Amino acid sequence: MKALVYHGPGEITWEERPRPVLGEASDVIVEISKTTLCGTDLAILKGGVSTVKPGRILGHEATARIVEVGPAVSDFAVGDHVIVPCTTSCGRCPACRKGLFSSCDRGGWQIGNTRDGVQAEFACIPCADSSLHKIPKGMDEEAALMLADILPTGLEVGVQKADVGLGDVVVVIGAGPVGLATIVAAQFYGPSQIVAVDRDAHRLEAALRLGATIAIDNTDGSAEKQILEITGGRGADVVIEAIGSTPTFELAQRIIGAGGRMANVGIFSKSTEIHNHVLWTRNISLKMGVVNTNSIPVLLRMIEAGRLDPRGLISHRFALDEILHAYDLFKNAAREQALKIVLDAGKSPVSAIGEEEKQIQFIVGRVLASLKGEAA
Ligand SMILES: [Zn+2]
Ligand SMILES: [Zn+2]
Repeated sequence: MKALVYHGPGEITWEERPRPVLGEASDVIVEISKTTLCGTDLAILKGGVSTVKPGRILGHEATARIVEVGPAVSDFAVGDHVIVPCTTSCGRCPACRKGLFSSCDRGGWQIGNTRDGVQAEFACIPCADSSLHKIPKGMDEEAALMLADILPTGLEVGVQKADVGLGDVVVVIGAGPVGLATIVAAQFYGPSQIVAVDRDAHRLEAALRLGATIAIDNTDGSAEKQILEITGGRGADVVIEAIGSTPTFELAQRIIGAGGRMANVGIFSKSTEIHNHVLWTRNISLKMGVVNTNSIPVLLRMIEAGRLDPRGLISHRFALDEILHAYDLFKNAAREQALKIVLDAGKSPVSAIGEEEKQIQFIVGRVLASLKGEAA
């Protein structure tokens, strides 16, 4: 089979690898239908995720069809069409019993990290019964794909950890895919304002399209002043940092109001300072974590009910074997106006919407990719 393999900082190849085989009795083998790139994959590519070793197949978000099941798997069968979430979990260890699937003794974020991932034609997924989710019949697969990581991350790590509530002024710093997913999820809880902060005009446009009420371009460093103006000098009720950098975390600490709740969704590759000598008088809380993906069933229900359509997070579509072009494009996300990039293995059993439009985007994507290939 073909797979996207990490060979050390800056080096990835699309190469032939042996098709995975069942390891443990609770494993399944899946044939990947759709997968996508994540900001985390770029962090890996920069060498910023030390647990990912050379030789690793990347990718931790996919929809797929089960082609083989281990003898201990009881809830899934060959042919089932599933979401493969970024977090897998045994369902039985002390952490899992508390719902902390990301801290599972036998799981957590492993695929595309400490074990081979899903940017491939096939993958072996552990703890299938307690990790996978069936895609409801008739649901658009691209919508389901957005539940493999970014929407649960925005909801669980951003919105729920920061306890967004009715009437809150919520500031989301960073309008990349996860920041945008956070903006989508924040709307479930009725905040009065959702303020998106970024330095990229296209991303801010996307933020407004997806439900932000105010967009602040912080290219000139005016976000702090503007947010204090918006809140009458009091600061925001909720600040969700969705980049993972020191300057944006500093900004978050300057704009949080009394009783404010902060959440880090961004992935920090080094430690940053918390100004507790200032923040303690403001009674703030700060939370962070890895997504447990236990919100996936609820999010599936919201999609089925027509209350959520996460396809607005998708900017590009490519064939799976064009993944290297997709990485090139994603590396220049601002210039290329890239948000989520869907990689399609051409195995999708069902698609409820816009087949024609998708086909056109797909062809345009291929043409652009081939032109780029010639230019390079
Ligand atoms: Zn991801
Ligand atoms: Zn566990």
